[in-house]
Amino acid sequence: MTRSFTFPGLGTRVIFGAGSLAQTGAEVGRLGHARALILSTPHQRPEADALSAQLCTLCAGVFAQATMHTPTDVTAKAIAAYNALGADCVVSLGGGSTTGLGKAIATRTGADQVVIPTTYAGSEMTDILGETADGQKTTRRDPSIRPETVIYDVDLTLSLPYALTVTSALNAIAHAMEAFYAPDRNPVIELMCRDAMRVFSGVLPVLQRRPQDPDARAEALYAAWCCSTALGQVSMALHHKLAHVLGGSFNLPHAETHAVLLPHTTAFNEAAVPGLLAPIAAAFGGATAGGALWDFAARIGAPLKLSDLGLAEADLDRAADLAIKTPYPNPRPFDRADIRRLLQQAFDGRRPTN
Ligand code: NAD
Repeated sequence: MTRSFTFPGLGTRVIFGAGSLAQTGAEVGRLGHARALILSTPHQRPEADALSAQLCTLCAGVFAQATMHTPTDVTAKAIAAYNALGADCVVSLGGGSTTGLGKAIATRTGADQVVIPTTYAGSEMTDILGETADGQKTTRRDPSIRPETVIYDVDLTLSLPYALTVTSALNAIAHAMEAFYAPDRNPVIELMCRDAMRVFSGVLPVLQRRPQDPDARAEALYAAWCCSTALGQVSMALHHKLAHVLGGSFNLPHAETHAVLLPHTTAFNEAAVPGLLAPIAAAFGGATAGGALWDFAARIGAPLKLSDLGLAEADLDRAADLAIKTPYPNPRPFDRADIRRLLQQAFDGRRPTN
């Protein structure tokens, strides 16, 4: 087929490197602001306080109550603090949960965002926000959600526990996997995703042996940036739908759920588009992309079973029902029985077949 694509451009300024946290103040100033509200989870409060001391008068305060799934009541509290402190922008220091809170504030107040990611989840380069209210998670895309500046400081990822390193990286790989067959993919994203697969396949075994290896950490964070950029540019399909259903309706942990599902959703779609997923099979050294990812995940100690994440076997029927409601477009057509079978395979932790 003759080549044809749209490249929307990259709207976010990116600063990458060890020690780049020191540039936060300059980036706040560059955006024309002087009173940043720093956001973090309670767990990362010490890092947020240290950044506050570093920013000095540029910091209006710290709000350290970010939590998984961006509940709207936490957002309301954060906006009250933002207004009371006279803040004029947000600095989100942490994983996807903290980035989510920053986005929720930004889309309601117009605040500019500087995001400093400390996991590989990949929210920072996207215009996507998932929020929960009354136990329901809804996800939307809007230009007002996309952060203005992202600072990737490798040093902040040295403390990432190995278990979260693995699941967070597989979460990132899932963005690339779906980007390879996205109908709105473009050559820049494809190149970034190919490189991310090459890098992740090489560095995760290194991090398994030496979780604080600074060079391997830098490579992993670079690969995560590539995958985040893919998530921020192209549409996602069955894999992300299933992860949203299991996270949103059954409260399964985000990164772990992506990690367990990934080989199964990859194998399922590989049957329809084997050529598009061939870069994954090649990068992870297998005959098939799904099989190669499952073998790799097992080797690096990733969780392999939904049953280990707190899902009950009795929930699989309802999960299949929810997954076929308002489905995302997918390269391989499916019905409820297909999804039920896929979920059973992931529940049992069996090596996937196409
Ligand atoms: P998280 O942000 O919930 O972090 C998990 C825990 O790890 C937290 O306690 C956090 O403080 C801690 N942590 C983070 N970095 C650390 C580090 N370097 N060292 C030690 N501890 C650290 O987890 P996550 O997987 O990054 O993000 C998951 C959330 O992000 C989900 O709610 C998901 O929906 C969202 N997400 C959104 C998008 C998007 O584009 N909207 C993309 C990916 C993920």
